[in-house]
Amino acid sequence: MTTSAFNVAARPVALVSGGSRGIGRAIVTRLAEDGYDVAFCYRTRPDAADQTAEVAARHGARTLVRRVDVTDSALTRDFVAAAEAELGALDVVVTAAGITRNQPLALMDDTQWQDVVRTNLDGTYHLCRAALPFLIKRQKGAIITMSSIAGVYGSVMQTNYSAAKAGVIGFTRALAKEYGKLGVRANAVAPGFIDTDMMASMNPATRDKHRKNIPLGRFGEPEEVADLVSFLVSDRAGYITGQVVGIDGGLAI
Ligand code: NAP
Repeated sequence: MTTSAFNVAARPVALVSGGSRGIGRAIVTRLAEDGYDVAFCYRTRPDAADQTAEVAARHGARTLVRRVDVTDSALTRDFVAAAEAELGALDVVVTAAGITRNQPLALMDDTQWQDVVRTNLDGTYHLCRAALPFLIKRQKGAIITMSSIAGVYGSVMQTNYSAAKAGVIGFTRALAKEYGKLGVRANAVAPGFIDTDMMASMNPATRDKHRKNIPLGRFGEPEEVADLVSFLVSDRAGYITGQVVGIDGGLAI
């Protein structure tokens, strides 16, 4: 589905995985406000994707919305190619699609491990691998990968998620080294607790316990992560690459 709000030439183009809800939705919205046309994908919730696209269109963005599971390499490649063909040359890529399947390691089954690694790590690889040739061709581009505080320090019940998000950091640093000279910057964002559906399964007592450990005394908002992404992809961050930027209310101190 493509919507055409304004037919404005030469708006920059961003591509976001997992743009239908939570942090991804806030990033799509913020980049639309910043003047980007935005392609984004989701996996299961077309209703949520439609809402995100409507908000982006209100900010004047053309959008391309596709149901694409980022664990599927071929589908992800087709999505990236469609974004370039329909919206124009890609400037920005954000890999926000992610899932958790929490379980102590002793009880973890192979599906829980594989689903999390395939979505968070393989999905990041698939999207960046597909988009990179387009960015290299223009000798310009900014990639943001979504890691987590769990990927930096490890998190209880999340060996699968911590491993995948640590993998995202290594991937991003290597990418930054390989393609910096070709004009491509790559940075990882490492959020702490951000108030999205991903945290909805947490019971009130656990939420309270976690909140007390945060120096700023509250969970983050998806829009705060989007503000950081907006800065990191902009020319104001033109000398920043290969970094892991925490946004966690001080939790990691
Ligand atoms: P969320 O509210 O659960 O949203 C996840 C998004 O990813 C949805 O748009 C979902 O689409 C999409 N998605 C999931 N699996 C996908 C797949 N295989 N292919 C394509 N899209 C897929 O999560 P969130 O809290 O916004 O998290 C966004 C990112 O930030 C994730 O990478 C997460 O690991 C990371 N993060 C979150 C927190 C936090 O506290 N919330 C902290 C650190 C890092 P559907 O709705 O259609 O399934």
